Amino acid sequence: MTTCLACGSRMKTKRENYRYAAVGLPGITLEGVQVSRCGNCGEYEVAIPRIEDLHRTIAHAVISKRERLTPAEIRFLRKHIGWSGAEFAAHMGAARETVSRWENGSMPMGAVADRLLRMIVANRPAAPAWPLEGLRQVARARPKPLRLGLRVARGEWKAEAA
Ligand SMILES: [Zn+2]
Repeated sequence: MTTCLACGSRMKTKRENYRYAAVGLPGITLEGVQVSRCGNCGEYEVAIPRIEDLHRTIAHAVISKRERLTPAEIRFLRKHIGWSGAEFAAHMGAARETVSRWENGSMPMGAVADRLLRMIVANRPAAPAWPLEGLRQVARARPKPLRLGLRVARGEWKAEAA
């Protein structure tokens, strides 16, 4: 039995379909979650298990959809990765104002950036951290073939820039 934190009355708990707005996306419904409602003051509590897994599942569904990402979805994915707007801009190689416009809907995200963001999310958290400092130089540097020395150490290939 749950007690209402607002008024102290007993709450009734039952399974409901719950519209989940916490990630800023419209149209997300959690089916059959436990919702406790206070008949006295209208307060309610929702029990959401395994939130990290939930958010990962939502993110995967977003990057699997066929239509272009919406501004709200771009913002959700960016936050899901854990990036600030400035970090997002730096990783995408875009201006800070550009990513703001993607997220507020005043400028559509291009197809290449859309796919890049999806790939970044798809490869998290398995991918190691991106060498962001190095990426900042990418736009300025001329193309040059990579020179790489590779050797097997303890059964695994190890690469060293030569
Ligand atoms: Zn109450």
